[in-house]
Amino acid sequence: MKHLFLDSVLLLAAASALAQSASTGVDNERPAPPAKIRSFDPTAIDKTADPCTDFYQYACGNWIKNNPIPSDQTRWVRSFSLLQERNRYLLWQELDAAAKDPKTPLQRQYGDFYAACMNTGLVEKNGLAPLESAFRQIAGLDSPQKVTTVMSELEAEGAPAPLFNFGVTQDEKDSSRQIAQISQAGLSMPDRDYYLVDNPHFQEIRKQYVEHVTKMFALAGDSPAKAAKEAAAVMEIETALAKASTSRTDLRQPENHYHIYTVPDFQKLEPDFDFRVYFADVKIGSFDSLNVATPNFFKGLNELIAQQPVDAWQAYFRWHVIHSNASNLPKAFFDENFAFFGKTLAGQQAPQPRWKECTALTDRALGEAVGQDWVKQNFPPSAKQSMDELVSSLDKALGDDIKTLPWMSENTKKAAEEKLALYRNKIGYPEKWRSYAGLKVERTDLIGNVERSTVFEREWNYGHLGKPVNEKEWGMTPPTVNAYYDPSMNDINFPAGILQPPFFDPSIDPAVNYGGIGVVIGHEMTHGFDDQGSKYDGKGNLREWQTEGDRKQFTERTDCVADEYSGFETAAAHGDAPVQKLNGKLTLGENTADNGGLRIAYMALLDALASQGKSINEKIDGYTEAKRYFIGFAQVWCQNQTEQEARRRALIDPHSPGKWRVNGSVQNFDEFGKAFGCTQGQPMYPVHACRVW
Ligand SMILES: [Zn+2]
Repeated sequence: MKHLFLDSVLLLAAASALAQSASTGVDNERPAPPAKIRSFDPTAIDKTADPCTDFYQYACGNWIKNNPIPSDQTRWVRSFSLLQERNRYLLWQELDAAAKDPKTPLQRQYGDFYAACMNTGLVEKNGLAPLESAFRQIAGLDSPQKVTTVMSELEAEGAPAPLFNFGVTQDEKDSSRQIAQISQAGLSMPDRDYYLVDNPHFQEIRKQYVEHVTKMFALAGDSPAKAAKEAAAVMEIETALAKASTSRTDLRQPENHYHIYTVPDFQKLEPDFDFRVYFADVKIGSFDSLNVATPNFFKGLNELIAQQPVDAWQAYFRWHVIHSNASNLPKAFFDENFAFFGKTLAGQQAPQPRWKECTALTDRALGEAVGQDWVKQNFPPSAKQSMDELVSSLDKALGDDIKTLPWMSENTKKAAEEKLALYRNKIGYPEKWRSYAGLKVERTDLIGNVERSTVFEREWNYGHLGKPVNEKEWGMTPPTVNAYYDPSMNDINFPAGILQPPFFDPSIDPAVNYGGIGVVIGHEMTHGFDDQGSKYDGKGNLREWQTEGDRKQFTERTDCVADEYSGFETAAAHGDAPVQKLNGKLTLGENTADNGGLRIAYMALLDALASQGKSINEKIDGYTEAKRYFIGFAQVWCQNQTEQEARRRALIDPHSPGKWRVNGSVQNFDEFGKAFGCTQGQPMYPVHACRVW
């Protein structure tokens, strides 16, 4: 599991909806270039707010007031959303040019992929024809045993095979090995809670979901009675899968998703699904054992296969084929999909313009092809060099922090330093680009392109089985505005996309850069030592390296953070009525990383200023460097979101909302209270604070 800086779970796969206007070509929608984003914005500050009472309101208040959520978004974050829009625009320029006049074979490949996506006239004309082949496979499901066959047939075509996730990953206890892994899946709504929580809010959502599924079947040509029966079957199967699923919070514990089974033992768990046939059909190659991340789910699935009639399974698979492709089907499907997954579930008012979605789709399918040209334009070698320097200064600060930790024994400190010394940093983009030579792209076949890309990615993943680990591979494409820590690799990764203003700005004073990208780097580094990351050693193996006493101390401290954040509530916008409490256990790793990141980036800033003979109390434009650091940090998180999005994120997002990423972090760091002259006991400068790192 990778630890991201920002939740990158796509909103709701099919809800990332496309505006299907009558336009059929690239020319009709020419977006305007977005402005450069300011790294430190005094106009965002609400000077009427007291920073010691509510720092988020102080740093972001005016921005929040003046920046309502655009109609095609569910959340609008000052840094991420603006930079994402900007990067997407720059990428679009490249795709648009490549679609019209490709100069290289690679440009022809991604230009054609993009052009096929933009051709909504053809989408309309094709109707459901591109799904016929998948529908035929599903129609052949005439006994429960055939569930196995249908899953592998759908996979072979690149159609959605929804029941579970299967692929190759590093062995958590021996990170040098790449093994097969299987885990729970199969739902359409964002989380098991949407199926299971018994309150009026979720009851209403479930009712509307069933209505939506019914409408989609009717659009596909089924009679109203048949469509209603199929929708009921989909709901029944998905609800049973939700019940068998492990919660997100429980899955945070690595030991809860690590269960090595031999293939015969796993087959015993699931006698009614013939995995030997499935494994052979998907052509992954032979293996003797695998990680069954969620054994209870597979027990539940087996019961379900035995219980459900054949036509219920047909409905379930057909639904997933329609649902997953909804954005690439005719307008009637698109609109109905948006109405439920965009509007009802996320509160989005209008679909995104098609160019945005096609740009994102092309980036997902051909990221390292598109990225090669993108970084040439947008990531100069000087940026990489500055990042290298920043990362080593944060690395030193975390090392110093470990040395002086009041609660940790000397032996464990030594082990922690060893782990830190083994961190690997990846900055900007891969040293060696992936080849897409085997991926056939056709300018007139959108769904075919998506399916071939799915097969291409899966075969690429399967190709890792039993092979040595390639440390140079990336899990994000270069234009992505995000970063991650991977505990099995023990590496931190910063795509070129996030190394731009407002995170990283070569033209601004160091305090603001340390508050921006410095805290991001510190955040990713701290993940190696959060509630999950701390269970892996420097080689990326799940192994206890703390003494028993230190682990106890560590847990007391993380419990403090979990309890603290469980007391926070989320709302649509600052000042709105709260809609949900945060889940301090679900967000523990991210909160720990936020707290650690803020502390060690500050220490690194002190070092940087000292080396230049400067002081943290020097003023620029009326703000001390210390204040600029904290304001720069907070302004990354200024945000507005819809009420639906606030609820959804409280359930599924391991990150806290912007307000608490800011206020939760500063109130646990006494340098903040000192910088703003707060009195101890005020909300942002409490007498008792939590501290892990
Ligand atoms: Zn994170």
